Amino acid sequence: MNRQKFNMPVIVHNALQLPPLLSSQLQDFVFQMPGTLFQWVEQYGSPLHLIWPEALKQNLARLTRVLEEHHLPHKIYYGAKVNKSKALIEAVLQAGAGVDVSSRYEMQDALQFGADGSHLCATGPAKTADFHELLIAQGALISIDSAEEFEDLICHLSLEYPARILLRYRPISAGDSRFGMPSKIIVQCLQHIKNDPRLIFEGFHMHLSGYQVDSRLQALRELLPLVAAAHELGLVPKLIDIGGGLPVQYVASSFYEAFIARQTSKDYRNGFVPEGFYPYGGAFDAATWLAALLDSEIQNGVSVARYFADHHITFALEPGRALADQTAISLFRIIRVKALGNGRYVIFVEGSSFNACETWFSSEFLVDPILLSVCSSASNHGPVHAYLAGQTCLDDDILSNRWISFKALPCADDLLVYANTGGYQMDLLENEFHRHPMPKRMYVRSDSNGVPIICADTV
Ligand SMILES: *Cc1c(COP(=O)(O)O)cnc(C)c1O
Repeated sequence: MNRQKFNMPVIVHNALQLPPLLSSQLQDFVFQMPGTLFQWVEQYGSPLHLIWPEALKQNLARLTRVLEEHHLPHKIYYGAKVNKSKALIEAVLQAGAGVDVSSRYEMQDALQFGADGSHLCATGPAKTADFHELLIAQGALISIDSAEEFEDLICHLSLEYPARILLRYRPISAGDSRFGMPSKIIVQCLQHIKNDPRLIFEGFHMHLSGYQVDSRLQALRELLPLVAAAHELGLVPKLIDIGGGLPVQYVASSFYEAFIARQTSKDYRNGFVPEGFYPYGGAFDAATWLAALLDSEIQNGVSVARYFADHHITFALEPGRALADQTAISLFRIIRVKALGNGRYVIFVEGSSFNACETWFSSEFLVDPILLSVCSSASNHGPVHAYLAGQTCLDDDILSNRWISFKALPCADDLLVYANTGGYQMDLLENEFHRHPMPKRMYVRSDSNGVPIICADTV
């Protein structure tokens, strides 16, 4: 960035259509200290991903409070695949929660931060033999996805190192899914477990796509006969893990509903309204969702919470996105703003759609970026409409096909702030295309005087 612009005052333009919900801490940064954000991008490059690990602890505390209020034994495993940040794993462990690991690399990160192996849970359908071995050696909980995985695991077992296992159930509503097992196969596994002292049966697991309380409730009801079947064989389920999928609110429901109701193909530069979106402006936050599930009736007037408490079954869950809520923002420097005619523009950012990747899933991130502007002519223009492209030569490198309205025409060297990118957005598809270096991921903490400082997010 040229120094002249760097020294100019920053004008913060909040989004017009789909303004992001920001925690008060993040609001302070974006609205009160935009100069600091410019400095950091100057220092570390664009895009720059910033992580607030303390926010994850607050999310954990909110969910834990709901579980405690319902007086049932519980366990939270952080779905580590949601973000590659090591600082977030460290925060999870400092808060005393477990981690759901799906590769030996996620597991090694957790172990490096001092995780006790018994607080790790491994899901995923295609665990390799060496991953199984590591899990067994560390005493981690293994969710068995298939009869085939069950057989493979048995080959590695010894009496010295028994395996702690969950059986992953495939709910009827997910009948076509490749994950989990139908009841019949689960019962066959239970019959084998009964006769094999090298297997420690801990309970059941499931994970559903979608974000409905009702689908989880229905799946839990389907598990009740399996709990009974286990008891008949003399096996005691100690834990049921309901997976993740707790919802996150990115924008206020009112803004979101209004946009969804009135959007047309004209809102998209490619003339195409995506078929589906993450529910960015859903009615529930994760804690409210969890309370609704726990208060729902599972059978004969008994609530889910009561059922777990009465049967001494630990209620486990594996939120990824919900724990990453409000933990991160991503900053993109604008390289160039190109006029397309008819008052329309394309904004090229330094970075790519691999760093804010929803379009690669045939959808859109329905959250507007906030514009931090250093260009003096900003006030001379009315609202303008632009789509956002990455800096690569790929035609599909689009951060937003949706026309985003800006109060003022953005300029080169301005920053766009994408809020709440911690949940899959920022790094799921990141790569070194065109040999651009990987973006920096830094975490923010306060020094002893309360001044924010940033540190590289590495072990
Ligand atoms: C991805 C995944 C999660 C986390 O899902 P979120 O939607 O991020 O909460 C939890 N459990 C399993 C088995 C998963 O595959």
